[in-house]
Amino acid sequence: MEAVPFIGIDRHRLGIDGVGVTTLAAFHGCPLRCKYCLNHRCLEPPEGLATYTPQQLYDRVGVDNLYFIATGGGVCFGGGEPLLRVDFIAGFKEICGKGWNLTAETSLQVEPEAVRQVALVVGDFIVDIKESNPDIYHAYTGGDAARAWDNLGLLLSLVGPEHVIVRVPQIAGYNTEADCARTAARLGEMGVGKIDRFVYRVPPSA
Ligand code: SF4
Repeated sequence: MEAVPFIGIDRHRLGIDGVGVTTLAAFHGCPLRCKYCLNHRCLEPPEGLATYTPQQLYDRVGVDNLYFIATGGGVCFGGGEPLLRVDFIAGFKEICGKGWNLTAETSLQVEPEAVRQVALVVGDFIVDIKESNPDIYHAYTGGDAARAWDNLGLLLSLVGPEHVIVRVPQIAGYNTEADCARTAARLGEMGVGKIDRFVYRVPPSA
């Protein structure tokens, strides 16, 4: 498998990206264009970024094997959008085996087939659903809310709500506390129990 670009690798994260000690591996590339994106590097051309094959990434992050095993942790794939790279993640899982838990931080703004494939190899998901109102969603991200919400329903049916945390950001100038409450209520109706509502930190330059 060819090497793919990453915007960063961040070790020793505890309680941020899933169970136990995790290393965040952030892919380059994202289908959305959020107005207050904090990861601009993943939207720019990938020149100059470090690239890894699954084996090369495994060799690099394996330095924390004992931490992962001892805490039930592992690797969290973020980005950007990790579900654009399901072949890479499946290849990585083949190498790391069952001892490491994999987590994916995703907007679910991908083809449903990618959700089906990744559900076979990733244990836990952190879904950045952003907003339920399609007009607000589109204004903020440029994307299609229905696609993300349909994929969320699919993901819940495949892995169960106990493996899915859904983030609901309140974004200055785009949605309100009442909008977030509506989004959270819709998630509750879908059986989501782990809802992370928070006020989004707008970058100072925005
Ligand atoms: S989904 Fe994340 S990485 Fe992609 S544009 Fe939005 S904030 Fe940036």
